[in-house]
Amino acid sequence: MESIIQSQKAYFKTHATRPLSARLEALTTLENLIVDNEQKIKEALNKDLNKSSFEAYTTEIGFVLHSLRKTKKKLKRWMKAEKVRTPLYHAFTKSYVKPEPKGTVLIIGPYNYPFQLVVEPLIGALSAGNTAIVKPSEFPSHTEALIESLMNEAFDSRLLKVVSGGVEVTQSLLEHAYDHIFFTGSSCVGQIVYEAASKHLTPVTLELGGKTPTIVSEHANLQRAAERIAFGKLLNAGQTCIAPDHIYVHASVKEAFKEKLIQTFDAFYHTESSRYPVIINDKHFKRIVELIDHEKVVYGGTVDEAKRLIVPTIMDDIQVDDAVMKEEIFGPVMPLLTYDNLETLIENLNNEPSPLALYMFSENTSELESVFDRVRFGGGAMNDTITHVANPNLPFGGVGQSGFGRYHGYYSFKEFSHFKTYIKKSTRFDPGLNKPPYDAKKERLVKKVLK
Ligand code: NAD
Repeated sequence: MESIIQSQKAYFKTHATRPLSARLEALTTLENLIVDNEQKIKEALNKDLNKSSFEAYTTEIGFVLHSLRKTKKKLKRWMKAEKVRTPLYHAFTKSYVKPEPKGTVLIIGPYNYPFQLVVEPLIGALSAGNTAIVKPSEFPSHTEALIESLMNEAFDSRLLKVVSGGVEVTQSLLEHAYDHIFFTGSSCVGQIVYEAASKHLTPVTLELGGKTPTIVSEHANLQRAAERIAFGKLLNAGQTCIAPDHIYVHASVKEAFKEKLIQTFDAFYHTESSRYPVIINDKHFKRIVELIDHEKVVYGGTVDEAKRLIVPTIMDDIQVDDAVMKEEIFGPVMPLLTYDNLETLIENLNNEPSPLALYMFSENTSELESVFDRVRFGGGAMNDTITHVANPNLPFGGVGQSGFGRYHGYYSFKEFSHFKTYIKKSTRFDPGLNKPPYDAKKERLVKKVLK
């Protein structure tokens, strides 16, 4: 590890990664690698999580290809030094902001979108001119092995090196000094990463999780709400950081909405269980199964331990102190809670750790705005779930307990760049204000100018 990191640092110091041409070449290598191996990537994701070809393409492969192509198109503009306005008291001076690479970065990925969630930050790292060490999650072992073999074959290890392995590998990677660490995963491991980074004063991005609430108001289009919530919840069997975790439905429409949600879950997945994505490993399977309270199940509730499959499940009459409300579910289990008063709900939501996302379904704009203006969360959607993540013009990231830093599109480039600022001053004239002795006349002049 030490030798990989040192060789990347030495390579960075040669300035080889800085030119636009070098960055575009790296991004093209990555793009070709993905296009040429689309089928292999799909197969690995299918073996690890039983992801369908459609889910694999839309949420992992197509997602990053779109991002790569957009980045390649815009990179020249993003890299330009920007000339900014200079105040009058800096006469004969020009001021600039210039993004430059940070150096050698470490990217640590989670298991749920094991390809996308290391490639997407990698696009940011390479476009910003850094060298990168990538540590994919060890649980989706087929995807991990594929990422390692494809990338290590295609790239010079001084520019990009994939390191595979379990917790011990991540821990020993974290002992070293980097110029940035980009971590996606759980809040508790996020804390470990943050602590390790602090020893070297390394800047970090923490893309964490949390319990994403969804509100269905009495003014909602209930059919659309049911469809869009089912889509967001059941994608990847609920193993999505921004999946709707639980629903607060207004008491007056609870029964009507529940029926529609049951019908939609049934229509989406009932007949073909072979199409259900599965839970990543036994530990998470057992954890989610324990959250199912069979007395409260109104749909689903069956599981297949051998396949690690949990049938989409809805639980009714859930209270905030039920087990399922104590942790991020990260599985296809949907608890229904009710509310009567939106003001009280807003207050309660702001007393919870700030989630990565929030969704609300309502046809009443002022009601939507009262929630979106006052509840703290990373990002979200009015009358939809999940899809805000797929707009590369929107920065993606958490707040409070759900993390800090943001990425996607230009924001990825920004996250992995240092914005160096400098001024350029003419030597032809000097007003002399900086030259002692500093008398009262000079002070009066300064006061006047600063007004
Ligand atoms: P995790 O935190 O268990 O693991 C993430 C990475 O950390 C893995 O590569 C793993 O090897 C490493 N790791 C695990 N334990 C470690 C330890 N003790 N010391 C050092 N490294 C360690 O996360 P996960 O279970 O793979 O992913 C699920 C979590 O990630 C959920 O909480 C989810 O919400 C979150 N998530 C967030 C986003 C986002 O964009 N914000 C995206 C996907 C997942």
